Amino acid sequence: MIPHNTPLIKDEDREAVDSVLRSGWVAQGSQVNTLEANYVSYFDGGVACAVSSGTAALFLSLKGLGVGKGSKVAVPTYACSALLNAVFMAGAMPSVVDILPDSFCLDPVALGQQAADASCVIPVHCYGEPANISAMLQPGRKLIEDCCHSLGGSDANDLIGRTGDIAVFSFYATKIITGGQGGLIWANDPILAAKIHDYRQFDCREDYVPRFNLQMTDIQAALINSQMRRLKAIKARRQLIAKSYLAALPEGLKVQSGITDVGRMIYRFVVVTPDLATRDALHRHMQNAGVSSVIPINRYELLHRYLKLDPNHYPVAENLVETTLSLPIYPGLTEAQVAQVQGALMKFRP
Ligand SMILES: *Cc1c(COP(=O)(O)O)cnc(C)c1O
Repeated sequence: MIPHNTPLIKDEDREAVDSVLRSGWVAQGSQVNTLEANYVSYFDGGVACAVSSGTAALFLSLKGLGVGKGSKVAVPTYACSALLNAVFMAGAMPSVVDILPDSFCLDPVALGQQAADASCVIPVHCYGEPANISAMLQPGRKLIEDCCHSLGGSDANDLIGRTGDIAVFSFYATKIITGGQGGLIWANDPILAAKIHDYRQFDCREDYVPRFNLQMTDIQAALINSQMRRLKAIKARRQLIAKSYLAALPEGLKVQSGITDVGRMIYRFVVVTPDLATRDALHRHMQNAGVSSVIPINRYELLHRYLKLDPNHYPVAENLVETTLSLPIYPGLTEAQVAQVQGALMKFRP
């Protein structure tokens, strides 16, 4: 069976981790500093703060922006529950918003209808597809771009993550590059970034305010730094695999609207079927062909379902969870495996 996702750890990555282990300094240190410097050069400015996870990065972003008790935070319903967790941990209230059918990203029009009073928005660049950030900007509204799927990606104008107040990344095992766990916050505003750094640095402080240990280790940072050097190659490889799947895509099946855009980071290759029966048939068909595929988000995982909100207010997401299937797309796939997935896809009759 071809796994749905697996990290690609190369000899140079092992070497980088081993050199940290040999150094005698394994906690937050020079490798974390290097990771932060890498992000500053990636974005050509600003300040970065590495943390223990993407969820920690979201939480700390809300803290830094002063979004807490009494604040409402708009989140797309079609997203990781980490968004809800971070909002609740910060003491704020989530306002759950429906998504767009072509991009799977937060719908700016629904944002106006379902979360007009939200003082903060966390749009997700879903599976690498750029969310329409500029349509969400409003005076007095904070914006945290969830870039956990879009590292390395750009839209027509710019690198993804530079428009909002903060960009948040995750290095969990299944992400574009990984440290096993890990997260990072990037902000253009040095005062905001200083607040975030202050919260992470709990030890040896003269003033006491409650802070928390959300640090990343140098072991993780070394692994991330090593893979980050291959980011361009990772992006190109994913685009190439997507191209061969698209060439084999049977009539009647669709993908996200921007998947062939030149700047696109293709984090997941998600096929959209006309209905539930076709999705389940495709799932079985790929299984029989030795290819693991997954339902990227199930109905029960939709954030409005977790909060027991009326599903009738989320028609797009409710439909999407029945008609989507994610196929393996990662740089560790061999040519033979890519051909196997492609061949299976080509033989499917919707
Ligand atoms: C993975 C992910 C997160 C959470 O990151 P962790 O490192 O697992 O805490 C948040 N948002 C999105 C879109 C993600 O994919």
